[in-house]
Amino acid sequence: MFAKTFGRAPRWIASAPGRVNLIGEHTDYNDGFVLPMAIEHRTAIAGDVSGTQNVTLHSATNGETASFSIGRDMRRGEPSWANYVKGVVAGFSRLGASLEGFHAVIDSDVPLGSGLSSSAALEVAAATLMEAIIGSTIDPTEKARLCQQAEHEFAGVPCGIMDQFISAMGRKDHLLLIDCRSQTGELVPFKDPTLQVLIINTNVRHSLADGEYARRRAQCESAARTLKVRALRDATLDQLEAARTGLDPLIHRRARHVISENLRTTEAARCLRDGCWERLGELMYASHASLRDDYEVSCEELDQVVELARNIGARGGVLGCRMTGGGFGGCAVALVKADQAKTISGQISEGYLDKTRRRADIFVSRPGAGAAVTAGGTHSRSSTWRKPVSSSGKASPPAS
Ligand code: ADP
Ligand code: MG
Repeated sequence: MFAKTFGRAPRWIASAPGRVNLIGEHTDYNDGFVLPMAIEHRTAIAGDVSGTQNVTLHSATNGETASFSIGRDMRRGEPSWANYVKGVVAGFSRLGASLEGFHAVIDSDVPLGSGLSSSAALEVAAATLMEAIIGSTIDPTEKARLCQQAEHEFAGVPCGIMDQFISAMGRKDHLLLIDCRSQTGELVPFKDPTLQVLIINTNVRHSLADGEYARRRAQCESAARTLKVRALRDATLDQLEAARTGLDPLIHRRARHVISENLRTTEAARCLRDGCWERLGELMYASHASLRDDYEVSCEELDQVVELARNIGARGGVLGCRMTGGGFGGCAVALVKADQAKTISGQISEGYLDKTRRRADIFVSRPGAGAAVTAGGTHSRSSTWRKPVSSSGKASPPAS
């Protein structure tokens, strides 16, 4: 496709994965823990320098082409999908990296807009291509933050750090336990080769999601104030119970979800390390119940999927299942026996169609690898890029 579009072979191909969060929902903005994995579905970007300061992008996914030039005054523009890459280019410029213009073709098998973070996959793949262009890598945490900032400023989405973190730092056969306060991640092995992760897209998105999200954040802040903690991450269930009479019952339930979910998430990481798969499954079901009853962010379709999975049960190869992502639609995630995954997918899609008259899309994935340059050099011998420091001790102005 690159050769067809630009008349020659690409010099580099970089790619980055989408992700699914196994457990730890609505904990990120409470300074808590999340436990995502990179999926085997990826976004690839093939490119070469353009010889000018112009960037031309073609997305084979949507068939559109966009161009812009690299400069100090880069802003959001049209088409909107190109902003994800533009924001990353602006981030590299801000770092002071002398990035040349480039041509690139993008393609992806991460479904767009399904909650599997095709947006982070695009940003991180683009950042990885840009590392190849400048000939040095940037620190992965800094790279993830740069991509997050691109999404904030150029796509207008106030996302947390999880998606870009896991897409940049995921590793095959591992999950990443991320502490959203310190913004550090710890790889946790997913050892058992007989298990797989099933991702069930309900194909619904209820419109109350955005308003309810803002309301949940405010409720958590209010609970933290009453409990006199910096964030709910610092509160214990005992503290919450002791403060019960002073808390509105609704706020109490919201806080109970967050505090218990943090406990479940760190316990889930221990289960992975110790191979306690049954317990991990129980934690997933408990997480779903808490999101449904205490946090009230599930919906009928997600509840149906989890109920169908529970009815198949351990005998049928399902260890656990829960909604994943912000809620009010989107995906559910299940931990299943690999040799029964196909049968389980069939049972869930049939049952879901029967109960909701809707079609579910189901993917199966093991934890996949994070971002990489897959052709044209891997930087294994190249340097790590450092901010050029001017005599005033400040970073040099962005190259334009
Ligand atoms: P999610 O991240 O859950 O997939 P988002 O709405 O955050 O959903 O991001 C989806 C948007 O990202 C798309 O609407 C599009 O603008 C952009 N995008 C992601 N991948 C691609 C791609 N391969 N080609 C073009 N645009 C893409
Ligand atoms: Mg997204």
